[in-house]
Amino acid sequence: MSGAFESVDVAVVGGGISGLTAAYALRKAGRNAVLLEASQGFGGCMGSVRAQPYLADRGPQSFVATPPLVELIHDLGLDEQVIAAGASGARRYIYRHGALIPVPMSPGALVGTPLLSLSAKLRLAGEFFVRNRPTSDDESVASFLARRAGGEIVEAVAGPVIAGIYAGDPARLSARSTLPGMVRFEETQGSVIRGFLSQPKATAATRRQPSRTIGFRGGNAQLIDALTAALQGSAYAGARVARIRQRGAGFALECDGLPEGTIEAARVIVATPAAGAADLLEALEPAAAAALREIEYAPIAQIVSAYPRGDIGVPIDGFGFLACRGEGVRILGAVWNSAIFTGRSPDDELLCTAFLGGALDAEIGALSDTELAQVAHTDLSRVMHIAPGTPKVVAGFRWAAAIPQYTIGHAQRVARIDAAAARVPGLFLIGNYADGVSVADCVRRARDAAARAAR
Ligand SMILES: Cc1cc2nc3c(=O)[nH]c(=O)nc-3n(C[C@H](O)[C@H](O)[C@H](O)COP(=O)(O)OP(=O)(O)OC[C@H]3O[C@@H](n4cnc5c(N)ncnc54)[C@H](O)[C@@H]3O)c2cc1C
Repeated sequence: MSGAFESVDVAVVGGGISGLTAAYALRKAGRNAVLLEASQGFGGCMGSVRAQPYLADRGPQSFVATPPLVELIHDLGLDEQVIAAGASGARRYIYRHGALIPVPMSPGALVGTPLLSLSAKLRLAGEFFVRNRPTSDDESVASFLARRAGGEIVEAVAGPVIAGIYAGDPARLSARSTLPGMVRFEETQGSVIRGFLSQPKATAATRRQPSRTIGFRGGNAQLIDALTAALQGSAYAGARVARIRQRGAGFALECDGLPEGTIEAARVIVATPAAGAADLLEALEPAAAAALREIEYAPIAQIVSAYPRGDIGVPIDGFGFLACRGEGVRILGAVWNSAIFTGRSPDDELLCTAFLGGALDAEIGALSDTELAQVAHTDLSRVMHIAPGTPKVVAGFRWAAAIPQYTIGHAQRVARIDAAAARVPGLFLIGNYADGVSVADCVRRARDAAARAAR
């Protein structure tokens, strides 16, 4: 490697979607930026496995097409590779009372849904008139929703949906950080329903458009590969940053796996999960490290299997389902990959990704891969009425620390991290642990940080 590499404008630590996006934006802005990734490949928790005739995605199963993500895709020349979820992508089910029930998407559907009891529907309608306010600045998602709309909403809707997005426990997650829009509606309009109704109609309709849910013809790997290719010559895998120290007006990064050993950079963007960022900042800014260590993560396992469509006893006409607790199944839910995106499996089969674990089932860490696959098959068979048989297990993935948990007090925790990091000029922290776990959130945050680091 050339000696010129030893001093750069910006060093980006971590080659998941956050770090890759930041490094790409910096290069595009004409900055001499390098990306240092500890593992042997890029993408972090995102990737794809092609096991002919199947295509399985590791980590994210679909993306919300926000403007920053759409722009990134366009810049990378990937427009033609994007596939929008078909109309069925907007239909989602909840497994409750032993059946798959469509999530009601309109007031009319809400009135008729068997998902909620009559008393729960009446209590929900009464949300307009609920006047009680929280006693402290933050409260749990469960407490916020039960206070506004009754406990059954938590059990039947919020529990499974929160498990689907955050793999989290509604009794511990922060309402302010997890449901910011709803909390704002309560504060500004006195009612969540009133807040929703006051939204411009076009916006509400746009939000429901299935085309906002997208994937890639070649799976997640296509986005990662395009970013990596664009960064060729400036992105290094197998390069773990062990320590960051201040040197002069900039930084020295001690790096395992690179002949240079130490890299000097005027600015640093740390794009690792919170615990890794804490390790790197321990000596530099202990207060930031301490607050970063407070962020908990939940474990997740994914089992991707294929079933003959003819063996499945329920209509496969949606995105997938989320399971309520207490229904006798351990899986959190499943995504019906080949029902939403083409090219995932032969037409007469369903490729399906089951999710296990989460904050309420950390014990999955003790299960072997075979046991996880068995649990997934047993539960899918029960929920989707699958005829007895042996599934084709296409792939399995597991993370001990998959999704950051925005627990009560999260906003103050993030404010402490930001304040401490701001005491180190030239240091930027990005990732999914601050204000949004989705890939689209990571892209937004990475581009914002890159713009500031490029100034
Ligand atoms: C199971 C699962 C399902 C998901 N589903 C969806 C979904 O459907 N839609 C959606 O939008 N989002 C989804 N997400 C969330 C989204 O995928 C993640 O939030 C996002 O990919 C995180 O990217 P990141 O770059 O911030 O972190 P990561 O992907 O964790 O990348 C961080 C990188 O930093 C590297 N690193 C760590 N320490 C060091 C070091 N010291 N030196 C160098 N490198 C280091 C790591 O090796 C890693 O590659 C899902 C996530 C998971 C886990």
